[in-house]
Amino acid sequence: MRSRSRKPFLLVVLLLLLAVVGSVSYLAWRQSVSGVAVTSAAPRFLGQKTTHTFALETRRGRIARLEVRVAQGGKPAVALTQEALGTSRAQVPVTFDGPALGLREGGATIEVRARDDFWRPLRPDDRPIASYPVTVDLTPPKLEILGATQYVSPGGVGLVAFRATGVARSAVAVGNLVAPSFPYGSPEQNARVALIALPYDFTPGAPIAITAEDEAGNTASRGIPAELRPRKFPRDTIEVKDTFLQAKVPELLRERPANQPLLEGFLVINRDQRRQAEAEKRRIGGKTADKALWEGAFVQPRNTKVFSNFAETRTYLYGGREVDTQVHFGYDLASTKQAPVPAANAGVVVFTGALTIYGNTVIVDHGLGLQTLYAHLSRIDVKEGNKVEKGQELGRSGTTGLAVGDHLHYEVLVHGVSVTPLEWWDARWIRDHIGKPLKEAGLPEIAGVEAAAADEAARSPARPVRRKR
Ligand SMILES: [Zn+2]
Repeated sequence: MRSRSRKPFLLVVLLLLLAVVGSVSYLAWRQSVSGVAVTSAAPRFLGQKTTHTFALETRRGRIARLEVRVAQGGKPAVALTQEALGTSRAQVPVTFDGPALGLREGGATIEVRARDDFWRPLRPDDRPIASYPVTVDLTPPKLEILGATQYVSPGGVGLVAFRATGVARSAVAVGNLVAPSFPYGSPEQNARVALIALPYDFTPGAPIAITAEDEAGNTASRGIPAELRPRKFPRDTIEVKDTFLQAKVPELLRERPANQPLLEGFLVINRDQRRQAEAEKRRIGGKTADKALWEGAFVQPRNTKVFSNFAETRTYLYGGREVDTQVHFGYDLASTKQAPVPAANAGVVVFTGALTIYGNTVIVDHGLGLQTLYAHLSRIDVKEGNKVEKGQELGRSGTTGLAVGDHLHYEVLVHGVSVTPLEWWDARWIRDHIGKPLKEAGLPEIAGVEAAAADEAARSPARPVRRKR
């Protein structure tokens, strides 16, 4: 009898035991779930004003509180406090204002404290979830302009030499374009040079400046003291003939709707393909040697007549009606049919092949972002990667691409931006605008720049006159 009455009692005890064990292990599990973690890379430097984005993640619940402090002896300074982030993952940019936080140069520690809203029986301790040793650097980088071209013009080029000490990055801005710079001279001189190209439509007053940034994000900026001299560009009208459309539209627009009028095809070529070629020129502009490969003045092919100029605005007429307006970015040079096309200066071939409206094209890199382009060729005699000498034949002139009649379309490019070839045909211009700022900076001259200018002065005391129609 007694044994029988014990059974339900044992069952109750067992159930109670199970409930206790269950609850304890449930509570233990709750307590064991890890809290908020930082998943982003560690910050290393704090500058005058440094923004670092912290990526946070929690496994259960949502992030309830975040606090970021900087400790540097004494009482830590709070850079950010944020409550109820509302998500289990967050990207939180934190701006550390060095002077406002009372930071001094030297070592410091960034501490991140964060918790989630997941319930745990015991409140987790208040230790930081992450701490990072960082270097506080409040000194802006040192940026000196060593030499710069005095006078620049739209559609023209200048040079700036500068020294940036203790910087991670520097950039030369010309309006909304960025001109790459290259180390120049001996390593002790710690100098860089950049060729700056002003597009033909450069807006007077747009910035021409160098900016530098150090590891801590401190920045310095200097305007380049170049004086802008205006330059006028010609206008022309071009009559679009049916015979031209019949010859060129099928050549340049391989795939087009069967019922598309030829004029419409022409407009696609003249607008879209022209834009594509511009983008391609910019891309190829990046494939440049980090030193000058050219020597002295650039050469114009012998016995050629200039019949179209740089940055000429062309209005296209069809049947007396205005149908398009585009800008012509080179010089058109004509002599005999299939005339030899010489390299304007020494360099390396960086492009050969069809380039939309330009037809068969060669681009030669002369280093530091300076390149020359030869278009409408009937034949190409060089390959990408070939080293070429000044005057070496690249191919023959022709009519490929959007060309009326056999001629060479010649362009000078700086970082892929078309500039007037006139400056580079003129040894004295090169001496005064490229050689002089290098001399002022105490940097080595570019080969042949002084000698070519002296030669030219000896030959003709007056400025050379370009042949024009
Ligand atoms: Zn042309």
